[in-house]
Amino acid sequence: MPRRRPAPSAPPASPAAAAPCPCGLGAPYGECCGPFHTGRSTAPTAERLMRSRYAAFAVRDPAYLLRTWSAGTRPAQLQLDHAVRWTALDILATTGGTAFHREGTVEFTAHYRLDGHDGEQHENSRFLREHGHWVYVAPLP
Ligand SMILES: [Zn+2]
Repeated sequence: MPRRRPAPSAPPASPAAAAPCPCGLGAPYGECCGPFHTGRSTAPTAERLMRSRYAAFAVRDPAYLLRTWSAGTRPAQLQLDHAVRWTALDILATTGGTAFHREGTVEFTAHYRLDGHDGEQHENSRFLREHGHWVYVAPLP
């Protein structure tokens, strides 16, 4: 995700439970990634985890991002840039990542808007199932 000096005082975006989830699946946030963010449930597949992490960027939930980051690669802290507005997520390809796998990859393009310009972030991410839960490891080279 793009790094930039964070804007000082953007209010946290807390989407209504009935609003469409930012992850792009089309379900209401409260029935889609919301329960993952609150810890009520966990993402069943690497792709759902990827989508919920994108949604966490969109709703500015750094705690969820850190919680779903492999301990081996997790940064000590995470400052989200409130000037970036995440606008769409395209999942391009996946491998593994189901209940039958221990690891998986998710290739995606995340679209954002920053300072009046559209940008995109393309990444093929690696995920692992640790202690029964999917976690983000790192981008593949
Ligand atoms: Zn969602």
